[in-house]
Amino acid sequence: MPIAIVNALIVLPPEIGARMTTLRFDARRILSLDQPPQRGDTVLDLSGRALYPGMINAHDHLELNHYPRSKFRPVYPNAHEWGHDFLPKLAEEPYRTLRKKPLEEQCNIGGIKNLRSGVTLVAQHNPLHAPLREAEFPIRVLERYGWAHSLHFEPKIQRSYRRTPRGAVWMIHLAEGTDALAAAELRQLQSLGCLKANTVLIHGVGLSAEDRQAALEAGAGLIWCPSTNYYLLGATGDVREFAAARRLAIGTDSRLTADGDMLDELRAAAKTGQLDVHSLFRAVTTDAARLLRVRDVGALLPNHLPDFFIAPASSDPYAALLTFTPHNIEAVYVGGRLRYQR
Ligand SMILES: [Zn+2]
Repeated sequence: MPIAIVNALIVLPPEIGARMTTLRFDARRILSLDQPPQRGDTVLDLSGRALYPGMINAHDHLELNHYPRSKFRPVYPNAHEWGHDFLPKLAEEPYRTLRKKPLEEQCNIGGIKNLRSGVTLVAQHNPLHAPLREAEFPIRVLERYGWAHSLHFEPKIQRSYRRTPRGAVWMIHLAEGTDALAAAELRQLQSLGCLKANTVLIHGVGLSAEDRQAALEAGAGLIWCPSTNYYLLGATGDVREFAAARRLAIGTDSRLTADGDMLDELRAAAKTGQLDVHSLFRAVTTDAARLLRVRDVGALLPNHLPDFFIAPASSDPYAALLTFTPHNIEAVYVGGRLRYQR
């Protein structure tokens, strides 16, 4: 049965702006914008509060969010060295016990972290575990994707690329470092024939200006995880060209290395001073949707999925998003259904 949300500040893509109006939806899609409630609609009065599109988290490891933020040196020259430090620690406490949590519980912790921060779609980097496919999982998880961990930890890069479902993105941690090893990775990927229009690079801290140009010319995109970059590497990449080309998305990574949730990540991104508030907003909504090749998410427009959250309204809702904590996320709807209420 259709629901009409009235007296709401509907936060549309920045080029359209936000306006007080009515949004109607059912379980499948947004039915209309600006059309008054119809006979038979359930009316939900937001009393002036804002309705934001559910955010898209383009990079998380959903089953790793119950671990503490961990590193074993103050700063790493590249993330592979962090990996080599971390893997043996899995046999020690607290990791040994934390690893034994049932997979479903591990995944749920990641799902709830995202849901409570206003994220409704996540791109998982790891297998699409069975619990992530359950209808009752708190958020949507990108279903069609290919992935490789990194050039360092994935021995069969080309096979991984080839096995990507037709029309889907292929994602890889790349140039996650500030040293020569990280700086060489884009050329390595290119020589393997895996830098294409559906390639999505994660991190890209060590990309040179030439690398960024080559990536954009190939039609590839970038997922930016600044809080993880600063934590492990003490630096982050230059993302401005990717944002200008509308091929930038933001990911939280897992709590193993990130500062917290998507709201924290947005603040970390804003703090770098590289992007204005509208570009940041696009990187977690419409641009992320395009990069991940999912139409119909990331905007409160007719025929899009009814995924959104309710938060306080303000005169500049795009800037306000950068000040939010989970306390400001009052309710989250996924597929037109209330999935979370503070
Ligand atoms: Zn990652």
